[in-house]
Amino acid sequence: MEAWPSVLVSTPVHSGLGEVLSYRHPSVLPAGTLVRVPLGARDVLGIVRDCPGTPPAGLDPVSARPISAVLDALPPLSAGWLQLVRFAGQYYQRSMGEVALGSLPPPLRDLDTVQLARRLKRQEKVAAALPDTPGASADVSPTLHPEQSAALAGLLAADRPVLLFGATGSGKTEVYLRAAEAELDARPDAQVLVLVPEINLTPQLEARLRARFDARFGARAVVCLHSGLTPAQRLAGWLAAHTGRARIVLGTRMAVFASLPGLRLIVVDEEHDPSYKSQDGARYSARDLAVYRAKVEGCRVVLGSATPSLESWHAAEQGRYQRLAMPGRIGGGSLPRLRLVDMNHQPKGAALAPPLLQAMSERVARGEQCLVLLNRRGYAPVLACHACGWKSGCPHCSAYRVFHKIDRTLRCHHCGTASRVPRACPDCGNLDIAPVGRGTEQLEEHLAELLVDVRRPDGSPVRVARMDADSTRLKGALEAQLDALHSGEVDVLVGTQMVAKGHDFRRITLVAALNADAALFASDHRAPERLFALLMQAGGRAGRDALHSEASELWVQTWHPAHPLFAHLRTHDFAGFAASELTEREAAGMPPFAHQALLRADARTQEAAQGFLNAAARAAQELPGSEDVTLYPAVPLTIQRVANVERAQLLIEAASRPVLQRFLAAWQPGLLACRSDPAARGLLRFAVDVDPLAL
Ligand code: ADP
Ligand code: ZN
Ligand code: ZN
Repeated sequence: MEAWPSVLVSTPVHSGLGEVLSYRHPSVLPAGTLVRVPLGARDVLGIVRDCPGTPPAGLDPVSARPISAVLDALPPLSAGWLQLVRFAGQYYQRSMGEVALGSLPPPLRDLDTVQLARRLKRQEKVAAALPDTPGASADVSPTLHPEQSAALAGLLAADRPVLLFGATGSGKTEVYLRAAEAELDARPDAQVLVLVPEINLTPQLEARLRARFDARFGARAVVCLHSGLTPAQRLAGWLAAHTGRARIVLGTRMAVFASLPGLRLIVVDEEHDPSYKSQDGARYSARDLAVYRAKVEGCRVVLGSATPSLESWHAAEQGRYQRLAMPGRIGGGSLPRLRLVDMNHQPKGAALAPPLLQAMSERVARGEQCLVLLNRRGYAPVLACHACGWKSGCPHCSAYRVFHKIDRTLRCHHCGTASRVPRACPDCGNLDIAPVGRGTEQLEEHLAELLVDVRRPDGSPVRVARMDADSTRLKGALEAQLDALHSGEVDVLVGTQMVAKGHDFRRITLVAALNADAALFASDHRAPERLFALLMQAGGRAGRDALHSEASELWVQTWHPAHPLFAHLRTHDFAGFAASELTEREAAGMPPFAHQALLRADARTQEAAQGFLNAAARAAQELPGSEDVTLYPAVPLTIQRVANVERAQLLIEAASRPVLQRFLAAWQPGLLACRSDPAARGLLRFAVDVDPLAL
């Protein structure tokens, strides 16, 4: 019987082509079938959304083009999956086709039926060659601690999303593993999705999952999905998940869209991490989509963190999520003691206060390790001429180029422009141009000098190392640096916040944060929340070995020691901190008590960017329901120009999610028209960011 499939293709919402395109086919195709269809002169991958037996209204049956090929070597995508991408498209103001096709592994978009069948066959062969039941290396599950048992029982009994609020080192991972085990044992086709915020964190968790599950479910049961894989690896992982052969999928935010026909459990580890929010294309939150997906699939979802996002914490307070707490640390280690250094009473200009330096020297002399956090890469954030006031501004951005001493370059961290450091001031010829401020490179150098007379227990000199995006750029560099640290080759590690995440640094007994103050008074209302999480997490690195934990310390240099954030930090009281932040947010009408979206515009000139936003704001006044939302004036971004593109944004706020959603949906078509407003000449692109993380 002739049918009229509606097919999702990768058309952006702005293309005006519509959500789906209609084709014809000699028979009815199940929804979710992968097909190849003609689009203009090309032949593209598509997904059947639905397939009525009569031509849809408005379609001329004669002119409808036939589907080119059906990729029937693959089972169709599930109804739950289609529902997920439909929701994601609607909620984040993109087209369903864009989200759906964009989530598939790139090679799948280019394969024809024959190539795909060949690829699948080859995969089966590779999989069959893997040992199905490996030998003795399998690890044994430890006996759960009482807090873990209680959390696991609570999790398995929960009828809502679970917020696992467990201190660093409380053994959350073990709880995830047991919950996964329970689901996988219950049904032979069950699948588990585990999300982590960063690619860096996948290797150690993958190793743990394999050690635990390979023996039970075979060496093919665990697959990874993240952007660090080759296209072929991504395709292989995706196919394994889609065909049900993979039982556990471990991945970063993109993996929330993996096709998992047997999905029974989703784990979102470090759920507070901003990396779960995509910053381009569809700006989705993988954490929020995980919760939605679990609802659609009727499966479990657990969000884990020692410092949950205030959104999740608030949801737990309201009872929408079930909170399960594990306050204790495995092995009984206590959390580090907070040592605040009041910089008002320290010698001027010292990067490290003398008492902190003293404490570090003592630790190193005892054979312990220290971690020093500084959130600034490079040698110095700016180079300046004291004769004429020249500064190393970036010619393409409204930002300074950072001085990197190692290769004597000035590098812009926004557009990537790099050039050699000039010998003399480009403006006045003065030879005396000097770095201003301090980055990790300089701190590493400085610390090596300050600690030069200190000896390790074996009499050898102190070793200082640095770990940041620059030092780990080369493949394998991060692993090598972690190894050096674990094996005790390094005594003092200087790094950006990337070192605070997830890694297990057993012998670190002192963590120091040098410039925490910036976040205390930032205009971004999420800055204190991030600082608290960073310090708790960094502190959690310290004293994991009970042997050392009694003496472990978290040092914070600050000009504002009386700030309330530190009082909560001192007692490791996240609940108290969250309560006071939420009270402030409620009073200020901020999320999670209000719901926000940003309309962002990029243009050749700031006038054009704002001109577009102003036109959009005028169009909004005409819409029904516009009185229920607040539109703020268009403003330039903090870093207004990047790579010669001027950037501006407009904040939209509403008291409830549905109100905001209704408004955005009504606004969307009008935004397209605003592109041609005379004031918007020079507009390059615009995008809507729903639930933005940074304003
Ligand atoms: P978290 O993710 O909560 O910070 P981890 O899951 O990394 O904590 O656990 C901390 C350490 O405790 C790990 O080395 C882990 O292997 C160990 N561990 C977890 N649960 C147990 C247990 N029940 N018995 C013994 N060791 C455990
Ligand atoms: Zn000069
Ligand atoms: Zn630049």
